[in-house]
Formats: sequence, structure tokens, C-alpha cells
Amino acid sequence: MTEAIGQIREDIRDQRSGKLVFLSHCMLNQNACVRGLASQPAVIREIVDLALGHEVAIYQMPCPEVSYLGSMRWGMVKKMYGNPMFRRHCRGIAQQICDQIQTYRDNGHEIKGIVMRDGSPTCGLKCSAVEADARQTWGGMVWHASPLQRFGATEGVYTEELMAELKARGLDDVRLLSLPEVPEAGSIPDALAEIDQALRARG
Ligand code: SF4
Repeated sequence: MTEAIGQIREDIRDQRSGKLVFLSHCMLNQNACVRGLASQPAVIREIVDLALGHEVAIYQMPCPEVSYLGSMRWGMVKKMYGNPMFRRHCRGIAQQICDQIQTYRDNGHEIKGIVMRDGSPTCGLKCSAVEADARQTWGGMVWHASPLQRFGATEGVYTEELMAELKARGLDDVRLLSLPEVPEAGSIPDALAEIDQALRARG
């Protein structure tokens, strides 16, 4: 039982730890990944094990890309997703997530962090997929598409909208963390160690 819900009356105390972590959707559903990017058959087992090991409940955020373009979408870069319609879609999800954070906090629960996905043009925190050449023209038929992309030090579109919403509500003390989608987007062992520390931390 955490100190966060320590003031709860004895007669309504239950088995909950009172701790939550919010995860980008695909960590609990690898089927949401763009084809070629799923690194495990079902879930990212390491992060589930860490959360369970620290008695932290998992809140799965919706996948902004699947809920916008469906599961047979192509991999894209931030510039393509950075349109007003997708931003509005992401802002709606960010509002839902901030509502959840707010209500759990108001009821004495502790939010250990929000874990994003480095490398994603949507959920990246430390880096996101961007075009390799800023002068490149985007759009056209898929068979004309250039495969050239790189990871740039910028947040993804959903991450930007989520950060703005957290700030607007005074919730920006919630810790943002990230787990790279692929090793090229960052060190997965280092990220897991940082997440482990955040989930283990008291208060
Ligand atoms: S990184 Fe974000 S947008 Fe990409 S599959 Fe995962 S949840 Fe969906």
C-alpha cells in the first residue's frame, strides 16, 4: 500500500497499490506497430515485468496512428503527421489522458510516469522519425515514396500535444519517460533502467 492513498479510511482500504504508469499503446499491443517494427509477439514483456514487479498498474493510452489511419498504415515521418487534423486528433486523446491523470490524482493515486516511444513520429520523446532531407517533396503515390528518413531530436506530434495539455492543466510535474522502438532510436537497456528507477521511486 503506498503513502499516496495512506489517508484512506481503514474500512474501505483494499488491495490496490495506488500507483499507475501510462504507456504508449503498442507496448501492450505489438499488433499496433507499423509492419516491420514489432519487436515482440504480443507485448514488451520487460516493461510489463517492471510494472508488475513494482506493483504499478498499467494504463494503456490509445494509439493515435491506428485510431486515425487504421492498422494497415504506412510508416511516415513527423512532417506528414504534423497536419492540423492529426494534431486535433492527438489533442483529443491528450485531453482524455489528462482527464484520467487528474481524476486518479484527485483520488489519491500516484502517477509514476508516462512512457512514450522514441523513434515514433507520433509518440517520440527524445527523438522522432523525420525526413532525411528537408527539401524532399512528400506526398504522391506510395510507389513514388522515398524511404529516406532519420531520427531527429524532436518530440512526436502526440507527445507535443500531450505536453501542451499537461502544462495547461498544471500537470506537467508528471514524469515523461520513453522506450525506443528500435535500437537505432536509443539505448533500450538504458531506457529500461530509467523506467525501473522511476517506477521504484517513492512519492
Ligand atoms: S508509437 Fe504511438 S503511434 Fe506508434 S504504434 Fe505505438 S502507440 Fe501507436
